[in-house]
Amino acid sequence: MRAVASVEELRALVALGCRILDDQGQGDLVWGHVSARDPDGRGVWMKASGLGFDEIEPDDVILVSWDGEVLAGDRPRHTEYPIHTELIRTRDDVGSVVHTHAPWSVAFAATEQPLRPMSHDGTLFVPPDIARFTKTGDLIVTADLGRDVAACVGERNAALLVHHGIVACGVDVPTAVMTAVFLERACRANIRAAAGGGIRTWSSDEEALAKRGHVYSPHAAWSYLARRLGGS
Ligand SMILES: [Zn+2]
Repeated sequence: MRAVASVEELRALVALGCRILDDQGQGDLVWGHVSARDPDGRGVWMKASGLGFDEIEPDDVILVSWDGEVLAGDRPRHTEYPIHTELIRTRDDVGSVVHTHAPWSVAFAATEQPLRPMSHDGTLFVPPDIARFTKTGDLIVTADLGRDVAACVGERNAALLVHHGIVACGVDVPTAVMTAVFLERACRANIRAAAGGGIRTWSSDEEALAKRGHVYSPHAAWSYLARRLGGS
């Protein structure tokens, strides 16, 4: 995946990312969004509001300015656009952001248990323990709250928004989307093990960090899921 894609490519990637998140159980009716940094620095190309992940076509991906103005596209924007604009504005290395109400992750966050790297997925996030945004469980609808979420993520690839959902980011859309998918799977695995009698063993920090670099390629997984959905 090239670091710089055309606007047409970005809109197609964001739309496919939405469909992959739906396929992976992260749709919440019409809520949740994927964005990509505008190559001309005008803001972010972002899923429009009012549609489910499974409905999104490239034309439903709109350009939202850093201040929330819709600069291109015929549909309205989501109120939680500051999650995207402020994280992308803060991080030069981030080209895409995902926010969903991923159900296993929301349930896991409510347990207040540490996320254990007891599967491949978990090693992408731990150590140190997954970041958790706890300032509010309400919507992130102001630039100040967006900056607070960005500060919680810091230099990491994801955070749990406790009582709300998740935020994930990456250099490009496939990486951000697959990071969200892997985080949800990691939280699901932790809950399953806890429900099965308790988590008794997991990778050491050394093993987890060694695995992080090679166990899962986001682009290989993205390509597989895109093929399953009939995409490229
Ligand atoms: Zn939300």
